Amino acid sequence: MKRAVVTPGEIVAYAEEYDVRGSAYYAGYKYIACTLCVALYDDKSHTAVVRPVRNPPLPQPGAVVYCQVTGKGKRAYQLKCFAVEGKRGPVDLKYQFTGILPHFLADGRLGIGDYIRARVVSAHGPPLIVSIRGPTYGVILSRCPKCGSTLKRHGMALVCPSCAAEAARKIAVGYYASFF
Ligand SMILES: [Zn+2]
Repeated sequence: MKRAVVTPGEIVAYAEEYDVRGSAYYAGYKYIACTLCVALYDDKSHTAVVRPVRNPPLPQPGAVVYCQVTGKGKRAYQLKCFAVEGKRGPVDLKYQFTGILPHFLADGRLGIGDYIRARVVSAHGPPLIVSIRGPTYGVILSRCPKCGSTLKRHGMALVCPSCAAEAARKIAVGYYASFF
């Protein structure tokens, strides 16, 4: 069962995917969180239960987190953060958090769907504010936008082994493709 922290005004689920109960309201085919909540998604029954939380266990500033890029706006990338770095590598977070990576803290390009290694820079939120400045932060896995193959690293470029497409990315040195 997937767990996620949802912030006020954030979409919990679309009505065609989940039947939502709890602290969310229905608006135009989607359910929106009223307050800071934890949502539990049951994929078998297609129901989601939303409960208010006061202090979700949030990764603190300086923590290293693993996120997937879910969108790109004018000022920032939107992220879903799913793991935090432990002594022996990434550990799944009990609750997923939305994250924000401002473009001025990105120092390079990312693609939607990319997995990244990032550092938490703000104690406020969720959403978590993260940075990928520094050589060991950035993309750790990227798939080809044309054919979906995992891109291979050639120096500082990413190249598709199937269709030879190339992608410019801010790569996390020493971490690319090491966990997947
Ligand atoms: Zn390809």
